[in-house]
Amino acid sequence: MIKKTRTKPLKLLKFEVLLERILPNHTQKQLIETNYRKYLAGFRGELTLDYFLSELPQDDYHIFHDLRIPRYDNNQLYFQLDAFILHPRFCIIIEVKNLIGNLYFDHQYDQIVRTRGGIDETFPDPVNQVEIQKKHLSNWLIKHKTPLIPIHTLVVITNPKSYIRISPKYGKNARKIIRGRTLSNKIKEIEKLEAEVILQKREIKKISSLLLKEHTPLNPNILKLFNIHRDEILTGAFCPNCTQVALIRIKRNWLCTSCSKTFINAHKKAILDYALLFSPVVKNKDLRTFLHMESQSSLKKLLYSMNLKPNGSRKAATYTIPLPK
Ligand SMILES: [Zn+2]
Repeated sequence: MIKKTRTKPLKLLKFEVLLERILPNHTQKQLIETNYRKYLAGFRGELTLDYFLSELPQDDYHIFHDLRIPRYDNNQLYFQLDAFILHPRFCIIIEVKNLIGNLYFDHQYDQIVRTRGGIDETFPDPVNQVEIQKKHLSNWLIKHKTPLIPIHTLVVITNPKSYIRISPKYGKNARKIIRGRTLSNKIKEIEKLEAEVILQKREIKKISSLLLKEHTPLNPNILKLFNIHRDEILTGAFCPNCTQVALIRIKRNWLCTSCSKTFINAHKKAILDYALLFSPVVKNKDLRTFLHMESQSSLKKLLYSMNLKPNGSRKAATYTIPLPK
């Protein structure tokens, strides 16, 4: 059964808003787009993996998509599992790679060399990556005094069009690199290897709730990541019809001066955009500047209608905009 579903990561949402709102001729725009496309491809690969995992029997398999857990040796750092499968007899960590092109797994130099259109590019060796995660998970399980359970690791290549070659230096580890469509067979092989039941129902329950409790989604400051200044971001609520045109607030409605359409809820997306780009904690005045609104009380009413209530008094009061989970 699925214990944690995969949702669109905050980083991806932040990329989308940044690309919508960065000044159109900004020098960093191309770089942001390239990074966004890579990140999106990774997320799509993970969604493909979820499809293959759905073939597993529901009762014995407890599946967690996308976990990010504080490390035992340093709780300011995290280890991230693309997918984690918990079974009464074993567990599996899955690292997903959604790379297209000719892939050469080069263990000796800790890299994948990807050749596409005559261009070589390198990526970290995912077998090494997943082994490091295994070490962190093992420490985490020991810290929480759970019974010692075998931890298996797999690297799943989700893009069916990639051409895979593996360096002989991998030895037995080569068997950890598989394609998505063979995943459920591979898991059944592991199931045959592990005969002893180690985790009772209550232990599975305990591990599950600990993982969910400690999961901390990655929440990067995307403006800082690309050295973008506040002034380089377009403000205003955009017209959902003709996009990228700031709406004006007239008589409890948002009016587009370009297509003349009116909207009731156009502020909702803009307020979330503000939270994603700048900060989820905001003062009335900052949000008014962003939404091009003059009246303090009308914004207050809008925020109340979204169930957002002020913290603190008068001018110092702040609102906390909830980020998607
Ligand atoms: Zn419009």
